[in-house]
Amino acid sequence: MNHFSKLGLSPSIIEVLDQLGFERPTPVQEQAIPLLLDNDPTDLIGLAQTGTGKTAAFGLPLIELIDTKNKATQALIMAPTRELGQQTAKMLVDFSKNNRALNIEVVYGGAPISNQMRALRKPTQIIVATPGRLLDLIRRKAVQLNNVKYVVLDEADEMLNMGFKEDIDSILSHTLEDRVTWLFSATMPPEIRKIINKYMDAPLEVSINTQEKINKDISHQYVTTKTANKLPALKRFLDLQPDMKGIMFCRTRRETKKISDELGNLGYSVEALHGDLSQGQRDAVMGRFKSRSMQLLIATDVAARGIDVNDLTHVIHHTLPDQLDSYTHRSGRTARIGKKGISLVFINTREGKRITELERKIKVKFERIEVPGYEELRSTRINNWVQSILNTKVDKRAEKILEELHGQFAHLSKEDLLQRIITTQLDQLMVKNTSEGNLNETHRESTDKRERKRDSSGFNRYFVNLGLIDGMTKVDLINFLSDVASIDRKFFGELSLQKNCAYFDVDKTKDRGISNSFRRIEFEGRSIRVNRDDDRNKRTRSSWSKQKDKSKPKNFKPHYKR
Ligand code: AMP
Repeated sequence: MNHFSKLGLSPSIIEVLDQLGFERPTPVQEQAIPLLLDNDPTDLIGLAQTGTGKTAAFGLPLIELIDTKNKATQALIMAPTRELGQQTAKMLVDFSKNNRALNIEVVYGGAPISNQMRALRKPTQIIVATPGRLLDLIRRKAVQLNNVKYVVLDEADEMLNMGFKEDIDSILSHTLEDRVTWLFSATMPPEIRKIINKYMDAPLEVSINTQEKINKDISHQYVTTKTANKLPALKRFLDLQPDMKGIMFCRTRRETKKISDELGNLGYSVEALHGDLSQGQRDAVMGRFKSRSMQLLIATDVAARGIDVNDLTHVIHHTLPDQLDSYTHRSGRTARIGKKGISLVFINTREGKRITELERKIKVKFERIEVPGYEELRSTRINNWVQSILNTKVDKRAEKILEELHGQFAHLSKEDLLQRIITTQLDQLMVKNTSEGNLNETHRESTDKRERKRDSSGFNRYFVNLGLIDGMTKVDLINFLSDVASIDRKFFGELSLQKNCAYFDVDKTKDRGISNSFRRIEFEGRSIRVNRDDDRNKRTRSSWSKQKDKSKPKNFKPHYKR
């Protein structure tokens, strides 16, 4: 039996919920649905955050209560962001699958208004909208709100944070005096209380114990590291947990772009979500994130609002939000609908007291954890590789290739063969044994300072005019460099492979004459150049990829085709 049937919903909705896999109501649904159905019309306050199932808590009663024979707009749902609006509308469309006479439209800023005006010409009983765009449509007389009986203010605290207070006032003045208001909010700041006092009459209240939920399902952790080391530290967490799927919050758009560029250049599967993206670009980023091809979405608080992804393992705070309330919002993206999650905060040595403040305020205990060390990374990487081999199902094509080898490996012992296979994988399996030096290399700082650090790490950095465009992988390139320069692979450090060039570190006790070794070496008819990357002028590593055309080493031939 579907447990929703006890809440007073009609059989056709229960059937849809069955199909959607909604078997048990969440606490906010269990409380709100019967209240709204049994007490119609009533005002309602729902203290619940995203991820608690609040959309169905108001959406299902709304679908039951709308009169589908009446073509006028009867319900208005206001949401702070287009993403939340779109997700809410999609859920309502899913819930009303068995009710073809019900029309739902979503309107939001950042998309052509003309299409939305056209869509609204057909009878639309429920409009989901962001406040700014709705006001625009009201002014253009593209919507008629004088039959609206139900207004839902979803994520009301976020709408106020985003400065929609006046828009909301103005919109509500276009609706009927006797309409009801259902207000959902994760927090109850005084501004929300004012809205409640002004627009609501003896509202019923439902509240899910947010504290309890956070305590139960989310592990709150923090690491203390220098601000400049946050990114290198993050890389280690990403390396250690290839299955991580998370959102990292930054304070500014610039930060999201910079971090995603830096990590992207290093081959991590990350993307930025920020307000400078067009709607199409945002949808594409979200599509890739939801389809699991991305390990980390790097977002600002505003851009991430309303994102509905249920299987996040981590929420990472590159910087703590200014408002500690937002911490609850951010961390609520993980551990949704009964799953477990980790909320990991990066703080610098001066921010320790903010953790204590948070612990007191939201009544959770934070666990201090360490940035994974070299040995941990190394053994995890090797173990992951071993596990992936053990878990591999043998492909028929492998059998065929084995036959074609005609026993070419027969003279090798198992040990010898394994050692050779491992050697081909060294680039994947090794972690650079220069913890401090490497930690300090992926962030912005003055060239001089970086230079000193690199020197103290025992490596010199070189440039080579071979890159991805030449079909190179990191392993190929290290093998090639090591063979030509006669330097054992183990003396190579970090390698950054870019489109048409690469930068690599070599142990500075082993790099004498390395540039000379490549003097007469050609690759597919082209001279290879290996130069010390000392005269990089004022470049920082994070900007190499963008600036490389302007700052090429002397002998670099820029235009070549394969
Ligand atoms: P919300 O808090 O409304 O944003 O919902 C979060 C997610 O939980 C959405 O993806 C819903 O589809 C899902 N969800 C909501 N209620 C249930 C339920 N009772 N059973 C299973 N999934 C649910």
